[in-house]
Amino acid sequence: MLIKTGDIVEVRSGNDRGTRAKVLAVRPAKPGGKPGHGGKVVVEGVNRVYRHIRRSQKNPQGGRLSKEMPIDASNVLMVCTACGKATRLGARLTADGGKVRFCRACNAELGTLRRPRATAKGG
Ligand SMILES: [Zn+2]
Repeated sequence: MLIKTGDIVEVRSGNDRGTRAKVLAVRPAKPGGKPGHGGKVVVEGVNRVYRHIRRSQKNPQGGRLSKEMPIDASNVLMVCTACGKATRLGARLTADGGKVRFCRACNAELGTLRRPRATAKGG
């Protein structure tokens, strides 16, 4: 999965379609899955559910607690920081062995996925 915590994404389906908000957490697909596919994301204010809380000593008022539930990563598109479009992401290798994400619309680099190999050791 190419989406990372802190990215701004646009929701493409469901009740929150069209919403642009920040990714609060990512849950990668199960091991052995195809890279870049599967996984879930928690998006701020999207797919919110309410938990009703009974009155207790800790919480004398009781009430409701809102909480975002994860949605499928395939239902969101990252909003490119360079061109502002909701776009699919690509990944490519750099000459020094690192891996970067890029916008498929404008080709801008959108952050490092893996550092170059040369700097992996030592330091
Ligand atoms: Zn772009």
